[in-house]
Amino acid sequence: MNLSYGRPYLAIPGPSVMPDRVLAAMHRASPDIYGGSLHDMVETIWPDLKNVAGTAANVALYIGNGHASWEAANANLFSRGDKALVLATGNFGHGWARSVRAMGVEVDVLDFGTASSVDLGQFEAALRADGAHKLRAVLVTQVDTASTIKNDIAALRRVMDFVGHPALLAVDCIASLGCDEYRMDDWGVDVTVAASQKGLMTPPGLGFVWFSDKARAVCAGSDLRTPYWDWTPRAGAAEFWQLFNGTAPTHHLFGLREALDMINEEGLENIWARHTVLARSVWAAFDAWGAGNPAIGLNVANPALRGHSVTAARMGAPHATRLRDWTEFKAGVTLGIGLGMAEPHEPAYHGFLRVAHMGHVNAHMTLGALAVMEAGMVALGIDHGPGALAAAARIVGEAVR
Ligand SMILES: *Cc1c(COP(=O)(O)O)cnc(C)c1O
Repeated sequence: MNLSYGRPYLAIPGPSVMPDRVLAAMHRASPDIYGGSLHDMVETIWPDLKNVAGTAANVALYIGNGHASWEAANANLFSRGDKALVLATGNFGHGWARSVRAMGVEVDVLDFGTASSVDLGQFEAALRADGAHKLRAVLVTQVDTASTIKNDIAALRRVMDFVGHPALLAVDCIASLGCDEYRMDDWGVDVTVAASQKGLMTPPGLGFVWFSDKARAVCAGSDLRTPYWDWTPRAGAAEFWQLFNGTAPTHHLFGLREALDMINEEGLENIWARHTVLARSVWAAFDAWGAGNPAIGLNVANPALRGHSVTAARMGAPHATRLRDWTEFKAGVTLGIGLGMAEPHEPAYHGFLRVAHMGHVNAHMTLGALAVMEAGMVALGIDHGPGALAAAARIVGEAVR
């Protein structure tokens, strides 16, 4: 018996579900890169892209994934021998630290583990300890996709202002942009990094770096820059080819245009609210399952510290892997592997999994994925508390009257 025949659902935290509209927009012959419809269309992308990040400042677009976006930001932010402070709340914070260290920057990491957000007192102490203002930038994830911890970015900026430290604030929003509330300008962020394949609903291959005018001025002399990564021409090109330092990512751009149309149609605040309700439905299901089996539980205890696009949970090894295999191969739902959840930052695949509720996802998809997970627990004899699906449905029903 196998119930996986039908449209599969990839519920991993990136690549997320690609809307048919986005795929259809990409299904076309190669456009001319020297003029015509591609140029006209690309003109329209910039204001919408800035709006998604909540900024009126600058944006540079790269052909690359999230790792490339990190390096793009690094190359513009730093000179050799500069110092960075990374606030790590999971695997991806450490990944950004490795990338910037490899480029010749001295990196201090404040490691807050995988179950709590940045401790503001420790952050303040680290800034005060840098009386000579050697730190050029503070790097942090809004949502770490491995731990699914969310940091309060506005609070980090308040600490920096309170201490009077001039470092730039750079935020990795790869997992959260277009899912969780984010307001770059209002929150005083200098650099925001994202990629196309998560909340922005476009296939992997586009990276984005938004930067404030202050960051542009402070970083004007950064010596890690090479022509490809320099954000200056990309954000204000005199000629079209300079926007991408070579051939434009033609089809991705048409896909992105369609995804931005979809974001505009729904509205950012509605998108944030949809992700909040879907996340709460997943949390309610895990709380009910865990009430009957202490091995099952959400990774992040405090709901205020949880991202809204992806949820990491303990299942008790080896049940996370068994359940993921069952849901994928017997029921057509692929869940995310646990990532970097054992100390020190080793994969612990068999004891953790992640459920994505990111981007082009609606109530029937999330409630369906939860129902499939419960069916898998029944099939595999994994103990679980009752009432999870009713609890998840109640969250949705009470939110949408
Ligand atoms: C996905 C992700 C990355 C890495 O992006 P890639 O496209 O896989 O290189 C980095 N940071 C966060 C927060 C992510 O969610």
